[in-house]
Amino acid sequence: MRGKLVVGNWKMNGGLRQNDALLADLRAGWTKQDGRAVAVCVPYPYLWQAQAALSGSAIAWGAQDLSEHAGGAFTGDVSPKMVAEFGCSYAIVGHSERRAMHGESDELVAQKAAAALAAGLKPIVCVGETLAERDAGQTETVVLRQLDAVASGLGPKLVEVVVAYEPVWAIGTGRTATPEQAQAVHRLLRQRLRKADPAAGNVLLLYGGSVKADNARALFASPDIDGGLVGGASLNATEFLTIAHA
Ligand code: PEP
Repeated sequence: MRGKLVVGNWKMNGGLRQNDALLADLRAGWTKQDGRAVAVCVPYPYLWQAQAALSGSAIAWGAQDLSEHAGGAFTGDVSPKMVAEFGCSYAIVGHSERRAMHGESDELVAQKAAAALAAGLKPIVCVGETLAERDAGQTETVVLRQLDAVASGLGPKLVEVVVAYEPVWAIGTGRTATPEQAQAVHRLLRQRLRKADPAAGNVLLLYGGSVKADNARALFASPDIDGGLVGGASLNATEFLTIAHA
């Protein structure tokens, strides 16, 4: 049994007062369930707040990125150890917004995944194609290239990651991949993980891209979809909890 995982990605949203309310509602609305995990990945300045609000609850928390470096002259960056000091369990790496807006390469994403693991954090490695790439029939090539970079960078530690398939054309657009489209890519990713390392066939594979309360159940019912990475809908406690219960 692989279990299920739903992770909220707040992106660059939030504020002290609204976070207090959201975190309290999440804490009250989710109790520990065997094989089902829930987490929120918040902006760096709010890691302490997530830690204070969620410690002792059934909800984990994490960061949305981290540096591949352990420390030193990297102005504006945040090291994996700093993230870990706030009790984080997870760090998203390779989100398409970072790949597109910050020029993060496949190799850098692999380095960040390795740095997260070295600090005791579970990296959630995002892969996904743009609409132009999908239309050009390049979906498989793109997602496998992104996954292979992480597989070869991590070697036997590949089993410790979570992978999120997030088609770029579905992120924040309201346009969701159909369960069939998502499942097809998830199956491909799982086959590739298994080929890289038989034990990695059990890596959790999340789907992300306009997951909402009304489409989560159908997506999560697919055999190779182990849960979701949820952006916009994770900012509303009722919606996010409905997704988590799906
Ligand atoms: C995301 O940013 O990881 C994401 C999936 O966003 P949304 O759910 O808003 O499409």
